[in-house]
Order: sequence, then structure tokens, then C-alpha cells
Amino acid sequence: MDLSIVVPVYNEEENLPLLYQAVVAAVVPLNLEWELILVDDGSRDSSPQVLQTLAEQDPQHVRVVLLRRNFGQTAAIAAGIDHSSGEIVVLMDADLQNDPADIPMMLEKIHEGYDVVSGWRKNRQDDLTRTLPSRLANGLISRVTGVHLHDYGCTLKAYRREVLTGFRLYGEMHRFIPVYAHSVGARILEVEVHHHPRRFGKAKYGLERTAKVILDLFTVKFLSSYSNKPIYLFGGVGIILIGMAFLVLFYLFVRRVFFGISVLGSPLFQMSTMVAIFGFQSILMGLIAELLVRTYHESQGKPTYTVRTTINFPPEV
Ligand code: UDP
Ligand code: MG
Repeated sequence: MDLSIVVPVYNEEENLPLLYQAVVAAVVPLNLEWELILVDDGSRDSSPQVLQTLAEQDPQHVRVVLLRRNFGQTAAIAAGIDHSSGEIVVLMDADLQNDPADIPMMLEKIHEGYDVVSGWRKNRQDDLTRTLPSRLANGLISRVTGVHLHDYGCTLKAYRREVLTGFRLYGEMHRFIPVYAHSVGARILEVEVHHHPRRFGKAKYGLERTAKVILDLFTVKFLSSYSNKPIYLFGGVGIILIGMAFLVLFYLFVRRVFFGISVLGSPLFQMSTMVAIFGFQSILMGLIAELLVRTYHESQGKPTYTVRTTINFPPEV
């Protein structure tokens, strides 16, 4: 199998036939061995039936994974990757906001030697409540991870299979696959891709997603760089703590010099240093707790999804 196109599907009944046609139009001329893996993420509309029909019409290419309930886009993507067998794996959304017509260009880049080709929605067709937070998030992710992309959130990305192993996908993690890939030495290219407004159905996300993304960023950063040296992180926080204490002391000192107010006698002296210390301790505790929870999930080795049925897969999968 040359190419697997993996698509998470949640309530996309009207989009699916169009998506299938667009994929066929883009991929058939390439003369490859390909599969389109559609993962139904517990849709409550007729998406499963539409998928069933597509699978019957094109049993050679359309493979369907039906999850037991809604596990979220990332888990659905993980299910699709786990069931795929192509040497190249392309991820994209079901709502035709990504354009399958971009796939051949991305494959070409893979053949030129890149391991990850990441789509950049330069003219993103979403409203400001979505584009503004993700702009900020993208800037932050780029700084923190050192993997410099403009658009982590774009689902349309092409991967060489080798770079898709060795990590678990949950939360909003799918956007960080390039970061994991980078840590194992992948060559990454970002290319401009088309982006269209949603034609049918509704977007499932709003602002709260950015908050989740930031938490995932923390885990990714920690797992990929700090796992052997937590002192870098906690040491950094410690330095900030000491810095705060110094600022307070400095203020009190200045007050003492110019107004003659006693430093040690000031309740501010005790209170502000205590508050600063407690504040930072609680941040630390939060970080540790977050990590514990996530480490727990990682060590469980549980899949992040459960499968109800699969259609058109060879028996061994
Ligand atoms: N999706 C999913 N499970 C969910 C939510 C979304 O599989 O719980 C799929 C959805 O069907 C689409 C993709 O993830 O294919 C992106 O979703 P959406 O278009 O709502 O997100 P946006 O484009 O606004 O980021
Ligand atoms: Mg969308």
C-alpha cells in the first residue's frame, strides 16, 4: 500500500460523498495503491450509514472504522493511523475545509525527501474567534518546541509512516505529531494549502480548544525534552521565585531609603514574600499534578478509543 488517507468523521453526513469524490479526483490520476480510511467518531447523524454505502460502492479503496462513541478528533485520527497500512499517511478533515486537491503536491514533497509535509492555511476561512487564539497558540508552540510552523492546527498533513511511531495521541495532540517527528530527526516542510469555509454541518470547536492545546503543549514539551532532566523546568521556576522575592525586597529597601519606613517591621515584607512563594508552589503543584495524571494515562497503555466495527479491512487487522 502506497498511500493511506485518514479522515476523522463526526456528524458529516452531507460532506462525505463530496469528500470521497474529491479524494478520488485527486488520487486516482497518481496511479498509486491507496486507501481512504474514514473513522466515524460516534456520529449522531447518518454518517455511519453514508460511510457504509461508500464502503459498498468502492470496497477496494474505502475502509471504515466505527468507534463505539465520540472520542474526539485526535483519538479518531489515532484509530485511523493504527488501522492504516500505507507507506505515506495523509491526515485531513472530513468537512472539505481541507482540499484533497492539495494531496498530490504534498506527496511530491515527500518523494523529494521530506518526512513530514505540513499544510499551512494561509487564507484560513474561519472567523476571528478561531483564527486569533490559534495565531497566539501557534506562536507560542513555535517558540516552545523549536519546530517552526505557522499552522500546527491544520489537519492536512502528509507523513512518512516511520515518523508516526513511538508516541500516543490523545487530547489535542494530533497537531503536535510534527514535534514528535522532529525529535526523531524527521525532515519537515510546511506548504501552503487551500482552505475553504465549511459547506455543511457545524464546527465542533470553539475557544476552549486553545486552552486544551496549551496544556498538551506542556506535556509534549515535557515528554520530548524534560523527561530526563526535570531540573531544567523546576530550576527555571525556582529562579523566578527568587527573582520575585528580590523585587519585593528591593521595593522595601527603596522605601526604607527614601521614606525611612522599616523593612523588617512591614507586614508587606512577610506577606508578599509568602504570597509569592505560595503562588509559585501552587503552580508547581499544578504542573506536577498535571504530569502525574498524564503519566498515569501514558503508563496505562490503554487505547484512547474503542472500535465497534471495521468495514473492508483485510482479516488480520
Ligand atoms: N471531529 C471528530 N470528532 C470530534 C470532533 C470533530 O472526528 O469530536 C472531526 C470532524 O468531523 C472533522 C474534523 O474532526 O473532520 C475537524 O472538525 P471541525 O471541522 O469541527 O474542526 P475545525 O475545522 O473547526 O477545526
Ligand atoms: Mg472544519
